[in-house]
Amino acid sequence: MLRFPHERQLLADLHQQLWDAGLVIWTGGNVSQRVDGGFLIKPSGVTYPELTAESMVLCDLDGNVIEGTRAPSSDTAAHAYVYRNMPEVGGVVHTHSNYACGFAAAQMPIPCVLTAIADEFGGDIPLGPFAIIGDDSIGRGIVETLDGHRSPAVLMRQHGVFTIGKNGKDALKAAVMCEDAAKSVSIAMQVGTPNKLPNDVIDALYNRYQIVYGQH
Ligand SMILES: [Zn+2]
Repeated sequence: MLRFPHERQLLADLHQQLWDAGLVIWTGGNVSQRVDGGFLIKPSGVTYPELTAESMVLCDLDGNVIEGTRAPSSDTAAHAYVYRNMPEVGGVVHTHSNYACGFAAAQMPIPCVLTAIADEFGGDIPLGPFAIIGDDSIGRGIVETLDGHRSPAVLMRQHGVFTIGKNGKDALKAAVMCEDAAKSVSIAMQVGTPNKLPNDVIDALYNRYQIVYGQH
């Protein structure tokens, strides 16, 4: 019997939602979910329809495999670095979603020109550094950009999106919202010159949405 059966199923479901949202193609992208003593993450090189609860790989906080028959995602080191350095984070998502990648390729943050961006991200969606896969440099870039920032999403320069949340579902929501924001702002930049919202308006929207909005 594999450990964390409930969390494994949850993570498989989140990958299905990531696929359904159109944020990933083929085997790209990944979701992870913190569990006691480590985290669960997508296996490397497995297509989304093939993913099962059992195929999720359990890793410790250094990214070593504890339980699983497959190799973990090639982005495991970045996820591990985030979990080690941001104890409040319980979920991480990575995508190469197209509109957000457009901004990452153009090396510009997504400007806070819509109320929905203020609500969700509390300002611009920031641009992180350029970092090559293979060591801690992607993880370090994510943490350095997001630590103390209101945005749960970072555009890693000329690469793609990493999002964080209190669990995998929250991180997935941030990835969906980031792509939606990038799409709307891309259109705005084609039809005119979008203006940033004033800081006091951004603060008011962010505080209302984060504290008052929703079911309590
Ligand atoms: Zn990537």
